[in-house]
Amino acid sequence: MKARSFPSVASIIERLNPSYPVFIVWPEVLREKARLFVEHFSGDVLYAVKCNPHPFVLKALSEGGITSYDTASLPEIAAVRELLPDADCYFNHPVKGRGAIDSAADVYGITDFVVDHEVEIDKIEEIAGRDVTVAVRFETDGKGAVYNLSSKFGAPPEEAVRLLKIVHERGMRAGLTFHVGSQCLDPDAYRSALKRAVEIMEKADVPLQFLDIGGGFPAPYAGVHVDLEAMLADIAAAVKELGITLPLLCEPGRALVADGCSLLLQVHLRKGDAIYVNEGIYGCLSEVNIGNFVMPARAFGKGGRALTGAPKAFRVFGPTCDSLDVMDGPFLVPDDIEEGDWIEVGLMGAYSLALATGFNGFVTDTVLRVDGRPHWLEEAMPLAEAETLSA
Ligand code: PLP
Repeated sequence: MKARSFPSVASIIERLNPSYPVFIVWPEVLREKARLFVEHFSGDVLYAVKCNPHPFVLKALSEGGITSYDTASLPEIAAVRELLPDADCYFNHPVKGRGAIDSAADVYGITDFVVDHEVEIDKIEEIAGRDVTVAVRFETDGKGAVYNLSSKFGAPPEEAVRLLKIVHERGMRAGLTFHVGSQCLDPDAYRSALKRAVEIMEKADVPLQFLDIGGGFPAPYAGVHVDLEAMLADIAAAVKELGITLPLLCEPGRALVADGCSLLLQVHLRKGDAIYVNEGIYGCLSEVNIGNFVMPARAFGKGGRALTGAPKAFRVFGPTCDSLDVMDGPFLVPDDIEEGDWIEVGLMGAYSLALATGFNGFVTDTVLRVDGRPHWLEEAMPLAEAETLSA
């Protein structure tokens, strides 16, 4: 069968001329990132589905070698199993409704759960029985992360010890897990969490199935240098130094998919130093203001017009009527950009499409695949680049 080829970004603009934003998936990049994690992490790599559950993303990651998935809800489990019937799904949300535990176990045969409180152990035992693995999540200090997830989940170390003993005493298999926080830029975060894991394991002194080191690996937004191979090597060294011999799991989301998607948006109006575009914080750009992320971008002049201006950080207004829908310089574009021009924003794979709301009727539902590698990976990460379309 002839391999299917997908259109280029320029031809999407020329042929479709959509006035709504287009979310672009780059399968080759996703496959490459999946292979990098699978090769360099000495354990099982679970993709954190919440980060981007689109079927094009799941498919590309599975082609790159991902076979296990961190899921947090029944719809996420369903999305994975619909596309990949043999996938291993872990139900790793620490707080679950009884109905969700029931359906996960009964309909999908899930046997891996996460808890950070005794009541959750009770629920799982009552509903799913004892032939399950229950991983106890402990809190980390969240240092250096844009999102400190331990402000919501994770038992304090002493409590984690107690929970592990309860899981073991009840005849369930036990595991241990943590999350250093999302977009974690502290190089020592995994090492200090691993030290805490060892202390907990020593005190609990119960057999464990695995140690799951969670997600948190960063994406290379502007100004952020990321060397995933070096990070994974450092984690492997720490595991060795600390004498951890348990099977390892990790649950990357952002670092696996950020690079593999972009967003094509259009300028609907220019007012001086501000541009009004057709995507904003209620769509795929909801993280921009929280993390102060700056994305690589390239602009396409309307009707083949050449853009020659210097890179400029515009104030960018999203399409909704809400005055909060505004971002200060989320990307740089040529300063001669005008109404009708297009901007492709890179590094958009993580927590973008998954968080888009459809507020005010602005729905981002056109998702297309493009072959090859995107511009910000081909060149030395240009922050702004102008592209002239063939007429
Ligand atoms: N695992 C769990 C349990 C999470 O809650 C998250 C994110 O919220 C992830 C993995 C993925 O984290 P990241 O995208 O920072 O890698």
